[in-house]
Amino acid sequence: MKKNIRILIIASILGVIALSGIQAYLIYNTYKLEKDAFIEETKSSVFRFEESVPEIESQYETLTDFVANKIADYKLGHQKKADLFQGYSTIKDSLNSQFIALYQAEFKRRNLSHPVKFQKRLKSIIILEKSKNDTLYFESNNANRQHLLGELFNVEDAYRTNNSQTSTSLNRNYTENGEQKTLSVDFQITTIDYFNIDGWKKEVFKRMLGILALSILIFTLVLGLLYYAIKSLISQKKIADVKTDFINNITHELKTPLATLSLATKMLKKDGIKSQPQLVDNTVSTIERQNKRLQKLIDQVLNNSLGYKEIKLNKESVDIKDYIHTVLDDFELSVKSKDITINRTFSIANKTITLDKFYITTALLNILENAVKYSDDNVTIHFNVESNSQLNISIGDNGIGISDKDQKQIFEKFFRVGNKEIHNVKGLGLGLYYTNQIIKAHSGTIVVESKKDRGTTFIIAIPFN
Ligand code: ADP
Repeated sequence: MKKNIRILIIASILGVIALSGIQAYLIYNTYKLEKDAFIEETKSSVFRFEESVPEIESQYETLTDFVANKIADYKLGHQKKADLFQGYSTIKDSLNSQFIALYQAEFKRRNLSHPVKFQKRLKSIIILEKSKNDTLYFESNNANRQHLLGELFNVEDAYRTNNSQTSTSLNRNYTENGEQKTLSVDFQITTIDYFNIDGWKKEVFKRMLGILALSILIFTLVLGLLYYAIKSLISQKKIADVKTDFINNITHELKTPLATLSLATKMLKKDGIKSQPQLVDNTVSTIERQNKRLQKLIDQVLNNSLGYKEIKLNKESVDIKDYIHTVLDDFELSVKSKDITINRTFSIANKTITLDKFYITTALLNILENAVKYSDDNVTIHFNVESNSQLNISIGDNGIGISDKDQKQIFEKFFRVGNKEIHNVKGLGLGLYYTNQIIKAHSGTIVVESKKDRGTTFIIAIPFN
């Protein structure tokens, strides 16, 4: 049974872990889809925006003129390929602030939900020749990237919109050996547009908020249900164990008086028993004793199971010191099986208290009886009473002690420590439960302090009103 429950719990936990994995995977996929959708939307909103802004055209012309001049110089042998962009930064500085302002205004007009940064890079400059094209520039790696216009940002984190290719012809007059000549060159410039959305994560997260919230809600619900199911499974199992233990305990308790009663009846049935009146008297006394014991057991089960709300108190004013002495004296007289010493200490400021003598006596006797039951043959009990703002009674013994773990359950109904081994000590696990209920009915508290093999102390506090 215990094994089955463990397997069930492990299986459910694994199930939840697997479900969480699938859930996480689905959320990740949704995230990717949402991200792609958002990027696509932005891409189409900024696509070919310059076609709607004629002023940008003239800036591109300035740029093309710069390239055309460089090509002419190159063709005429005044310019090296490597120094192609010398002087471009001055042109860019004069163009860029206006360029940025223009595209920002256009993006605003297009109602972009997010601020977008834009950048135009050079892909290639190719001189178109009849025989073999001459590549003046070709972007091949990060190091030689040429930023043409727009804002500076890392293109690794950015998105491409479009490539544009423009083919242009240039004609340049020049003099060679006093002769007027015209240089004609066809060239092609390819550029790539990039855009960057700073707040895309926030936007995608916002779009996913609904699904995220729902997932978290469902997940918490499933976890809550699982926790509740496991908890009730364990508590059901505990209740079943406690019931089994109780049945074992009560059977054990009933066995001895019943066996004695059966023996006694057999004895009385014997021939010639009537001629031995002494034996008859002894047997009848045994029957009486066992009968009382059975009655006590049944009363214990019936009464000691009462909850504190069902206990009807009949309070009276008692002299604390007198009352405690009487209880302890009677108790000392009743213990015959072991050597017992009770050290009594009193610190009484308030002399009287109103309480139900019958119930409090039962509670104190339960604790005292346990001190004897769970100790070896020499029992020393420290009984300390203080009455200042409330009545404090502490009852300490030198017995076997209770482990920290068991202390937590000590006041539960039917709980007995180490149920199996302890069967040689009689009990139903009701004494401390009932004691706690009696103290609660007096609006008081009871706590236990103990160390295994070092004895146990119960501390009771009862308010004066
Ligand atoms: P029981 O009928 O078993 O004595 P109780 O409710 O009185 O039932 O006590 C519950 C359990 O607490 C006991 O079975 C015992 O294991 C443990 N216990 C109670 N009092 C003491 C004590 N003074 N020293 C050690 N163990 C104790």
